[in-house]
Amino acid sequence: MGVRGGGFLEAGDGDERGRGKARARVNAPKLALIRPASAGILPTFPSWSRASALDPNSFSFLERSSPENFLDLALKEAQRALEADEVPVGAVIVDMPTGRVIARAHNQRELLQDPTAHAEVVAITQAAAHYGSWRLTQAALFVTLEPCIMCAGAIVLARIPKVYYSADDPKAGAYRSVFEILANSKNNHVPEVLAGIKAAESGELLREFFRKKRLPPTNGRKGPPG
Ligand SMILES: [Zn+2]
Repeated sequence: MGVRGGGFLEAGDGDERGRGKARARVNAPKLALIRPASAGILPTFPSWSRASALDPNSFSFLERSSPENFLDLALKEAQRALEADEVPVGAVIVDMPTGRVIARAHNQRELLQDPTAHAEVVAITQAAAHYGSWRLTQAALFVTLEPCIMCAGAIVLARIPKVYYSADDPKAGAYRSVFEILANSKNNHVPEVLAGIKAAESGELLREFFRKKRLPPTNGRKGPPG
Protein backbone atom coordinates (compact mmCIF):
# COMPACT_ATOMS: atom_id res chain seq x y z
CA MET A 1 0.00 0.00 0.00
CA GLY A 2 1.04 3.53 -0.52
CA VAL A 3 1.87 4.31 3.05
CA ARG A 4 4.10 1.30 3.59
CA GLY A 5 7.22 3.30 2.95
CA GLY A 6 6.19 5.95 5.39
CA GLY A 7 6.40 8.45 2.59
CA PHE A 8 4.21 8.99 -0.36
CA LEU A 9 5.77 6.68 -2.88
CA GLU A 10 7.59 3.41 -2.86
CA ALA A 11 11.00 2.89 -4.31
CA GLY A 12 9.42 0.60 -6.83
CA ASP A 13 7.61 3.56 -8.27
CA GLY A 14 10.88 5.04 -9.37
CA ASP A 15 10.12 4.35 -13.01
CA GLU A 16 7.27 6.78 -12.70
CA ARG A 17 9.38 9.70 -11.71
CA GLY A 18 7.70 11.99 -14.14
CA ARG A 19 4.48 11.56 -12.28
CA GLY A 20 6.00 11.11 -8.86
CA LYS A 21 5.97 14.73 -7.80
CA ALA A 22 2.40 15.32 -8.79
CA ARG A 23 1.24 12.10 -7.17
CA ALA A 24 3.15 12.82 -4.01
CA ARG A 25 1.66 16.23 -3.53
CA VAL A 26 -1.82 15.10 -4.47
CA ASN A 27 -1.65 12.17 -2.11
CA ALA A 28 -0.27 14.09 0.82
CA PRO A 29 -3.50 15.33 2.39
CA LYS A 30 -5.24 11.99 2.01
CA LEU A 31 -2.48 10.01 3.64
CA ALA A 32 -2.01 12.51 6.39
CA LEU A 33 -5.68 12.26 7.23
CA ILE A 34 -5.73 8.49 7.01
CA ARG A 35 -2.69 7.86 9.11
CA PRO A 36 -3.84 8.97 12.54
CA ALA A 37 -6.79 6.61 12.35
CA SER A 38 -4.75 3.67 11.12
CA ALA A 39 -4.08 1.85 14.33
CA GLY A 40 -2.27 -0.89 12.48
CA ILE A 41 0.32 1.52 11.19
CA LEU A 42 0.85 3.77 14.13
CA PRO A 43 2.61 2.56 17.23
CA THR A 44 0.75 2.98 20.46
CA PHE A 45 2.30 4.41 23.54
CA PRO A 46 0.15 4.01 26.63
CA SER A 47 0.34 7.63 27.61
CA TRP A 48 -0.93 9.00 24.32
CA SER A 49 -4.55 8.55 25.11
CA ARG A 50 -4.00 10.11 28.50
CA ALA A 51 -2.16 13.21 27.36
CA SER A 52 -3.85 16.44 28.25
CA ALA A 53 -6.34 17.59 25.68
CA LEU A 54 -7.07 20.76 27.59
CA ASP A 55 -3.82 22.60 27.34
CA PRO A 56 -2.80 22.91 23.71
CA ASN A 57 0.66 24.14 24.62
CA SER A 58 1.37 21.39 27.06
CA PHE A 59 4.40 19.22 26.58
CA SER A 60 2.88 16.65 28.91
CA PHE A 61 2.85 14.10 26.11
CA LEU A 62 6.54 13.76 26.79
CA GLU A 63 6.17 12.87 30.42
CA ARG A 64 5.51 9.22 29.70
CA SER A 65 6.47 8.96 26.05
CA SER A 66 10.00 10.21 25.94
CA PRO A 67 11.57 11.97 22.97
CA GLU A 68 13.55 8.76 22.44
CA ASN A 69 10.36 6.91 21.53
CA PHE A 70 9.44 9.38 18.85
CA LEU A 71 12.98 9.52 17.54
CA ASP A 72 12.89 5.75 17.27
CA LEU A 73 10.00 6.21 14.85
CA ALA A 74 11.96 8.83 12.96
CA LEU A 75 14.91 6.42 12.81
CA LYS A 76 12.64 3.80 11.27
CA GLU A 77 11.77 6.33 8.59
CA ALA A 78 15.47 7.01 8.08
CA GLN A 79 16.02 3.27 7.69
CA ARG A 80 13.40 3.24 4.93
CA ALA A 81 15.24 6.05 3.20
CA LEU A 82 18.45 4.03 3.44
CA GLU A 83 16.75 1.02 1.87
CA ALA A 84 15.56 3.27 -0.96
CA ASP A 85 19.09 4.55 -1.51
CA GLU A 86 18.23 7.98 -0.19
CA VAL A 87 20.27 9.91 2.37
CA PRO A 88 18.81 8.36 5.53
CA VAL A 89 16.91 11.07 7.33
CA GLY A 90 13.51 10.53 8.91
CA ALA A 91 11.02 12.78 10.67
CA VAL A 92 7.80 12.49 12.63
CA ILE A 93 5.47 15.22 13.84
CA VAL A 94 3.43 14.79 17.00
CA ASP A 95 0.28 16.65 17.96
CA MET A 96 1.19 17.71 21.48
CA PRO A 97 -2.28 17.89 23.06
CA THR A 98 -3.05 14.31 22.11
CA GLY A 99 0.44 12.86 21.76
CA ARG A 100 -0.48 11.32 18.43
CA VAL A 101 1.84 11.03 15.48
CA ILE A 102 0.24 13.05 12.68
CA ALA A 103 3.04 12.88 10.13
CA ARG A 104 5.95 10.61 9.36
CA ALA A 105 8.24 10.85 6.40
CA HIS A 106 11.70 10.25 5.09
CA ASN A 107 13.94 11.97 2.62
CA GLN A 108 12.70 11.38 -0.94
CA ARG A 109 14.93 13.70 -2.91
CA GLU A 110 16.17 11.08 -5.34
CA LEU A 111 12.84 9.37 -5.85
CA LEU A 112 10.98 12.57 -6.56
CA GLN A 113 13.97 14.40 -8.04
CA ASP A 114 12.85 17.25 -5.82
CA PRO A 115 15.41 19.25 -3.84
CA THR A 116 12.72 20.22 -1.34
CA ALA A 117 11.68 16.64 -0.52
CA HIS A 118 13.58 16.53 2.77
CA ALA A 119 11.99 14.51 5.55
CA GLU A 120 11.04 17.59 7.56
CA VAL A 121 9.40 19.41 4.66
CA VAL A 122 7.42 16.33 3.59
CA ALA A 123 6.30 15.81 7.19
CA ILE A 124 5.38 19.48 7.62
CA THR A 125 3.22 19.27 4.48
CA GLN A 126 1.44 16.23 5.92
CA ALA A 127 0.91 17.92 9.28
CA ALA A 128 -0.46 21.08 7.69
CA ALA A 129 -2.90 18.93 5.75
CA HIS A 130 -3.86 17.19 8.98
CA TYR A 131 -4.66 20.46 10.72
CA GLY A 132 -6.00 22.21 7.65
CA SER A 133 -3.69 25.03 8.63
CA TRP A 134 -0.14 26.18 7.97
CA ARG A 135 0.20 27.07 11.65
CA LEU A 136 1.65 24.03 13.39
CA THR A 137 1.63 25.67 16.79
CA GLN A 138 0.58 22.48 18.58
CA ALA A 139 3.15 20.28 16.92
CA ALA A 140 6.51 18.89 17.93
CA LEU A 141 8.96 17.80 15.26
CA PHE A 142 11.35 14.89 15.72
CA VAL A 143 14.05 14.47 13.10
CA THR A 144 17.15 12.32 12.91
CA LEU A 145 19.49 15.01 11.58
CA GLU A 146 20.03 18.67 12.36
CA PRO A 147 17.76 20.59 9.96
CA CYS A 148 19.32 22.34 6.97
CA ILE A 149 18.62 25.99 6.14
CA MET A 150 15.56 25.10 4.07
CA CYS A 151 14.03 22.91 6.75
CA ALA A 152 14.93 25.36 9.50
CA GLY A 153 13.15 28.03 7.49
CA ALA A 154 10.11 25.81 7.07
CA ILE A 155 10.06 25.08 10.81
CA VAL A 156 10.11 28.81 11.57
CA LEU A 157 7.42 29.57 8.98
CA ALA A 158 5.23 26.76 10.33
CA ARG A 159 5.63 28.14 13.89
CA ILE A 160 6.58 24.73 15.22
CA PRO A 161 7.33 25.33 18.90
CA LYS A 162 9.41 22.26 19.73
CA VAL A 163 12.11 20.51 17.73
CA TYR A 164 14.09 17.43 18.73
CA TYR A 165 16.86 16.12 16.55
CA SER A 166 19.49 13.42 16.72
CA ALA A 167 22.79 14.00 14.98
CA ASP A 168 24.46 17.30 14.25
CA ASP A 169 25.22 17.98 10.60
CA PRO A 170 28.67 19.56 10.42
CA LYS A 171 28.26 20.27 6.71
CA ALA A 172 24.83 21.86 6.54
CA GLY A 173 23.23 22.04 9.99
CA ALA A 174 21.21 25.19 10.55
CA TYR A 175 20.65 25.05 14.29
CA ARG A 176 24.23 25.39 15.47
CA SER A 177 26.71 23.50 13.28
CA VAL A 178 27.03 25.78 10.24
CA PHE A 179 24.21 28.30 10.46
CA GLU A 180 22.09 29.40 13.38
CA ILE A 181 18.74 29.82 11.69
CA LEU A 182 16.64 27.99 14.28
CA ALA A 183 18.27 29.84 17.15
CA ASN A 184 18.24 33.27 15.53
CA SER A 185 16.31 35.75 17.64
CA LYS A 186 15.71 37.94 14.58
CA ASN A 187 13.14 35.39 13.45
CA ASN A 188 9.58 36.12 14.48
CA HIS A 189 9.42 32.60 15.87
CA VAL A 190 12.17 30.78 17.73
CA PRO A 191 11.45 27.14 18.56
CA GLU A 192 12.81 25.29 21.53
CA VAL A 193 15.39 22.82 20.28
CA LEU A 194 16.78 19.74 21.94
CA ALA A 195 19.71 18.16 20.11
CA GLY A 196 21.66 14.93 20.36
CA ILE A 197 18.95 12.39 21.21
CA LYS A 198 19.77 9.04 19.56
CA ALA A 199 22.63 10.74 17.75
CA ALA A 200 24.72 7.57 17.64
CA GLU A 201 21.99 5.56 15.91
CA SER A 202 21.36 8.29 13.36
CA GLY A 203 25.06 8.73 12.73
CA GLU A 204 25.48 5.02 12.11
CA LEU A 205 22.76 5.05 9.43
CA LEU A 206 24.39 8.03 7.74
CA ARG A 207 27.82 6.43 7.87
CA GLU A 208 26.42 3.24 6.39
CA PHE A 209 24.90 5.19 3.52
CA PHE A 210 28.04 7.11 2.69
CA ARG A 211 30.20 4.01 3.12
CA LYS A 212 28.15 2.31 0.44
CA LYS A 213 28.33 5.35 -1.80
CA ARG A 214 32.09 5.48 -1.65
CA LEU A 215 32.53 1.88 -2.69
CA PRO A 216 33.36 1.47 -6.37
CA PRO A 217 31.46 -1.16 -8.37
CA THR A 218 32.66 -4.58 -7.34
CA ASN A 219 31.80 -6.44 -10.54
CA GLY A 220 30.35 -9.20 -8.46
CA ARG A 221 33.32 -9.58 -6.16
CA LYS A 222 32.78 -9.33 -2.47
CA GLY A 223 34.15 -6.37 -0.66
CA PRO A 224 35.95 -3.39 -2.12
CA PRO A 225 38.49 -4.08 -4.82
CA GLY A 226 41.96 -4.31 -3.39
ZN1 LIG B 1 16.51 19.94 5.06
